[in-house]
Amino acid sequence: MTDAADFPVRVRPEIAALPPYRQGKQAGAEAFKLSSNENPFDPLPGVVEALQATTGVNRYPDASAARLRERLAERFGVTSDRVHIGAGSVSILYQLVQAVSGPGDEIVFAWRSFEAYPGLAVVAGSTAVQVPLLPDARHDLDAMADAITERTRAVIVCTPNNPTGPIVTQAEFDAFVEKVPADVLVILDEAYAEFVTAPDAVDGMRLPGGAGRDNVVVLRTFSKAFGLAGLRVGYAVGHPRILDAARSTGIPLSVTAQAEEAALASLDAEHALQERVAVIAERRDRLAAGLRAAGWNVPDAQGNFVWLPAGEHALAFAAAFEEAGLIVRPFAGDGVRISVGEEEAVEKILRIAASVVDHLP
Ligand code: PMP
Repeated sequence: MTDAADFPVRVRPEIAALPPYRQGKQAGAEAFKLSSNENPFDPLPGVVEALQATTGVNRYPDASAARLRERLAERFGVTSDRVHIGAGSVSILYQLVQAVSGPGDEIVFAWRSFEAYPGLAVVAGSTAVQVPLLPDARHDLDAMADAITERTRAVIVCTPNNPTGPIVTQAEFDAFVEKVPADVLVILDEAYAEFVTAPDAVDGMRLPGGAGRDNVVVLRTFSKAFGLAGLRVGYAVGHPRILDAARSTGIPLSVTAQAEEAALASLDAEHALQERVAVIAERRDRLAAGLRAAGWNVPDAQGNFVWLPAGEHALAFAAAFEEAGLIVRPFAGDGVRISVGEEEAVEKILRIAASVVDHLP
């Protein structure tokens, strides 16, 4: 390949410098893949049938996924112009940031948090302002409010926080939003909302706050609890003006008819969904309790994953897990995130984690 310096087409230097999106490692047949916060279950009842019944791949899908918007609007008690569908919630994140932020602007978010956030700011030509988490791995919302300047165009709040696990409470979120200027967009990323069991957790769909405020948009996804990660469908609820702007920056027609049908079918399987979510939450709690009993300082875990603050040992610990057939996600120098997957993996994780804890600093 030609050296980047000799290549004639000019790529924006900040884009060339971006690390490629790092996907959770794939697992071989013998290993458990616990590196991407995926759902271990088969599709919800009705989903496969809905996919099989979807015909007409020679036709473009409905650009606004109107049926799914209607259905979600009903579910959350809003009008359908307050719902926007995207090819995964990550694509809506990009749309929103592009819609509000440009060169010289700033995007504020907690760090460590979802790995896509720094790239969103850069793609928009803006600056990522990363506010360190508190020692217990929660958002430092006071510091985030203080980090807002006149250049800030959006603040992202991730709850439960990927990869560390804790939630933001409703009271904390309400107090935070009061401090954010009305012209700054607050993106409440609730990708893992369905797994939350903490009664005081923020619920962005609790109206008229959250998604009912003009400058708050709530993001959710069918990738996690609903188990449709491979089909790419997520949604936003918020003010129509913001969602219209997001649509203008998005790639048209990126949500397929298959994705829309599968999402609709999975919404019909509410009972099975709740059962599965309860199973995952129970495994998560058992895992977190077992890890704490073994000496790990595991933060509150409210998503479908647990966080091991392994510091400088993160890569070595992930390698030890992999050796034992557990593919987990290391964050160099910081920690290891383990998704809650199959039941058989729970005991295995506890065994490996107990054997490596002695090497902690
Ligand atoms: N937000 C958070 C916090 C996530 O962890 C993820 C997926 N890892 C997403 C958004 C994006 O999910 P998707 O694009 O599959 O909806």
